[in-house]
Amino acid sequence: VLRRTTIAALALIAASASATGCTASAGGSPPVALSTPGGIPTPSPSGRPGTARPSTGRPAPTARPTTTRPRPTPTPTRPPAGPPRGTVVVIDPGHNGGNAAHPEVIDALVPAGFGQYKPCNTTGTASNAGYPEHAFNWDVAQRVRTVLAARGVSVLFTRGNDTGVGPCVDDRAGFGNAHHAAAVVAIHGDGHIGGHGYHVIEAARAPAGSAMAAASHRLAVAVHDRYGAESGFTPATYVGSGGYDHRTDLAGLNLSTRPTILIECGNMRDSADAARMGTAAGRQRLAQAIADGILRYLAG
Ligand SMILES: [Zn+2]
Repeated sequence: VLRRTTIAALALIAASASATGCTASAGGSPPVALSTPGGIPTPSPSGRPGTARPSTGRPAPTARPTTTRPRPTPTPTRPPAGPPRGTVVVIDPGHNGGNAAHPEVIDALVPAGFGQYKPCNTTGTASNAGYPEHAFNWDVAQRVRTVLAARGVSVLFTRGNDTGVGPCVDDRAGFGNAHHAAAVVAIHGDGHIGGHGYHVIEAARAPAGSAMAAASHRLAVAVHDRYGAESGFTPATYVGSGGYDHRTDLAGLNLSTRPTILIECGNMRDSADAARMGTAAGRQRLAQAIADGILRYLAG
């Protein structure tokens, strides 16, 4: 009741206080859990049974032997490390591909923590060449999941595709809480006119006590440091300090009771950042950096 009666009054406040850049995500449909099996893909069986070919008049090929030498087992390039089996990490790929077509859903105000209200979700930004942030976030999230799943981490996403609407920011936060995630990482690309680089955003106010805030900060430092070392991006030149920012207005941080951060992987309106973010190789590199940071955090 409170929410409905105050929604009109708060709309102006929310609109005037809307976040710069892209960070305001969440949306309509409920979050979808995508559990991923851990482990390394099983190599395909070696040796194929001989198959008969249709007669062509040529001599029949010699049948292959039915036994083959065993092939060496592929060795992972990195040794398996740390997190206990069943460790849950929630990845929140910001925005969604259907948001732009459904303003009636994503513009609805939802609780954003500490008495604030914000739109359910936003469309996100895009590069000057038209590469949308939601697609970038979705692609990077999958790459992070692949790395983490190979180490036995159970990775859940807050949305199940890149064509839907939402979910809303408060639902995204609730998803990580409900699954008791060991870490929650929201993935975004920023859309700022001027400046470049990445930054990691932490809650300026501790929503779940000092111990959880300390855990979130450890996660922030772990991801920040690996990202800075591996991704090829520099700390943001236009916001925060040294690649860190602290905000009071993000529902995903304010409503989380788990260790939670949001990373703006780069500034999509900057041509050099966008060039890296727009290629599969670039996204793989930064996704590996994020995953390495998460693994370092999980290792304690
Ligand atoms: Zn965003």
